[in-house]
This record gives sequence, structure tokens and C-alpha cells, in this order.
Amino acid sequence: MQKWNMIIDVAECTNCQLCALAAMDEYVGNNWPGYAAPMPRHGHKWINILQKERGQQPMIDIAYVPTMCNHCDNAPCLAKGGDAVKKRDDGIVLIDPEKAKGRKDLVEACPYGHIWWNEELALPQIWPFDAHLLDQGWQQTRGQQSCPTGAMRAIKIEDEEMARLVRDQELEVMKPELGSKPRVYYRNLWRYSKCFIGGTLAAEVNGVVDCVEGATVHLSKNGRSIAETVSDNYGDFKFDRLDEGSGVYLLEISAEGRSKKTVEARLGTSINLGEIRL
Ligand code: SF4
Ligand code: SF4
Repeated sequence: MQKWNMIIDVAECTNCQLCALAAMDEYVGNNWPGYAAPMPRHGHKWINILQKERGQQPMIDIAYVPTMCNHCDNAPCLAKGGDAVKKRDDGIVLIDPEKAKGRKDLVEACPYGHIWWNEELALPQIWPFDAHLLDQGWQQTRGQQSCPTGAMRAIKIEDEEMARLVRDQELEVMKPELGSKPRVYYRNLWRYSKCFIGGTLAAEVNGVVDCVEGATVHLSKNGRSIAETVSDNYGDFKFDRLDEGSGVYLLEISAEGRSKKTVEARLGTSINLGEIRL
């Protein structure tokens, strides 16, 4: 059976917030019986854009990650919810707006923080994958329809086909270690979850300091070779997709006509080593 999944490309999200606004437009003040009670005007972020700044000036980048209920297949909220939470055959998780009344305990059941408590209605709420629209024949969610960059795409396919996409496109989910089996997948999540070591190579030639292009930079850790790159025409180099807090790395830099240089870097979060003079 075909089921719904969401694929989000972190590299394409510009933080325009249109998907989040579309969700508000759809749910604030609107009652969708059987799907969702109205979302409060303030305080809820059913679609929430996370932001991560990496590095230090001038080597810095920012990633934006739209997040929402992951419609997990092995959802802790389902395990705790009883008949207040249901998993539909098409993969969508719904919190029943009637049966879940008073169930504040469900808020804590979501390890992702995607269940919002509606104080006025005494109701836990999630983004319901716009199921009321999909059931009317829509092929897109409101957020997807509003997204100007194509960063967000809902697709309904067989689980086997989705597993193939995950493999082929290196898609990832949030907190895979929980085993909750989210149906929201991310492309280029490393731009948010991983970090880099970068720097700028420079050398003095005839009294003038200039950047060094074409130098080879080799990265190793505990004697194990990890990667090699070449500095660009600004003398910049960068090793990305490294794990946060992964310890001490060794950089060996070789440039034509210069003696080899070795630099040590301790990786907490992304680090710009700044100018390295050869
Ligand atoms: S993200 Fe949270 S609320 Fe949504 S299905 Fe998973 S556990 Fe439940
Ligand atoms: S609408 Fe698209 S680009 Fe804008 S914040 Fe949402 S996912 Fe990102």
C-alpha cells in the first residue's frame, strides 16, 4: 500500500517561513472535525524552522531545517496515546481532537517536541500532514504548495520504494537512534547536523602576503587518513560532514616550494582556523 512521506531538502530551504504561515492559515481558527481542532493564533509552531550557524567569519554558513510531526511508524505518542492517537493505513498519525481532550501527558510523549498543548481547548495538537486536504484528493500539502524553492515535497509511495529513495539519495531522519521510524526525511541534513574544519592558506612572497592556491591539505585522526582537499584561489580549504565534538584532527599542508606544515585542530563545533601562514 502506498503511504505518505515528506522529503525536505535542507540545501534548498531559505527560511522564508511561507510553509509555516501556510500551516497557520490552514489551521488557525479552522476546525477540521476528525483531523484537527483550531490551532491557537499564538504559541504553536506546527511547522517550525530550525536554524544552525556554522563556523566563524569569514567562513560561515547557515542551514535552515523545517520540522514538524514526523508521523513516525513506531511513534512513542502512539504507544502512550491509546485511542487518542491513531496511525492511518497511509502512514499519517492523527491525534483525535475529541478523544485526546485533557491528555497533556501526550506532550511529553513526543521525543521531538512536536506535540503542542492547546491550553484553551485542553488539547495536545500536531501538524496532521494536511490529511483533510489529502483525503479530498490534494496531492500536495499547503506548505509544499507555498514553498518557492521546492525544498518540501510530500510523496505517496510504497515503503519499499521509499527505502530505495532513502538509499539512493542518502536521505536521513531526525534522531534515528530513537528507532521511532519517522516518515519525514531530509536531504543534505549534514549541513545542520555535521560540522567542518576550514582555514585559509597564505604565504609571503617578496614582502607581500598572498593566498596560496592549489596547496594539498590532508586530514587525519589518530593516524587514520580521512580526506584530502586542495585550497581554492582564495587559499580556502574546508573538510565538511565531520561529527561534532569528535576530538583532535591533524592537518598536513603541502604547497609547492614551501616546507610541509602540520596543524592540529580540536573539533567541538565547526571551526575556521583562520589564516595559516606557510
Ligand atoms: S513526531 Fe512525535 S508526535 Fe509525531 S508521530 Fe513521532 S512521536 Fe508522535
Ligand atoms: S517554504 Fe520552503 S523555503 Fe520557505 S521555509 Fe518552508 S521549506 Fe523553507
